[in-house]
Amino acid sequence: MVSFHPDSKFLTDFAAGSLALSEAVCVAAHLEFCGKCRAHVQQLSDVAAQMMARLEPVVEDDDGFDSLMQRIDAAELAPQVSAPRVTRPALASSGIPYVVEKLAGGSLQALNWVKLGGSLRIAPMDVGCSRRQTAIYDIKAGRPMPEHEHRGEEITVLLKGSFSDADGKYVRGDFVVRHAGERHQPTATLDTDCICLVSLEQPVKPSSWWYRLMEPFVQYRLSGFNY
Ligand SMILES: [Zn+2]
Repeated sequence: MVSFHPDSKFLTDFAAGSLALSEAVCVAAHLEFCGKCRAHVQQLSDVAAQMMARLEPVVEDDDGFDSLMQRIDAAELAPQVSAPRVTRPALASSGIPYVVEKLAGGSLQALNWVKLGGSLRIAPMDVGCSRRQTAIYDIKAGRPMPEHEHRGEEITVLLKGSFSDADGKYVRGDFVVRHAGERHQPTATLDTDCICLVSLEQPVKPSSWWYRLMEPFVQYRLSGFNY
């Protein structure tokens, strides 16, 4: 069951279309798992529509949730142009959020994966956002990620499996925010690999000497992920 949700500011900014695209994709992905937040965003959209109607009484299109979703369905998602303001209530048939699968070109396997040791692989995702980095992390079942410290905000949306760190356990659909200065080491639970959508404001700083030493050999550069 989803326990961690975007706060009101995230949802309000999402409904207003004012989030960075990378953040908007994370919120949109969470909405596909979470009826409660979808309803909240719908309410915000309704209020905005009512305000617009008062300003412009001749507006005929009520811009309801269904009509907006139909527009997203009908048109190719164009993240470079505008943030996905609402999202489908259902996940794609693969169980991955529709918005993520679409941005990945139809399948996460189509992305360019970079292996980091035996427990982690990362695929950068281009969502047309110049302010943040977006990537998919795949942590092997039962294995830890390298411990790392955040230099800026990190949003993680769990797409599959679960992980735990010193603060708790997180499951599919959870929206987890970490802030600059926080240090943690997520470990995937034993039952299955853990796949996450991650949006980073700043590159993370790994604590492990091993990853720092590896850097000259693997030339690992994911537009700012400097290990
Ligand atoms: Zn939620």
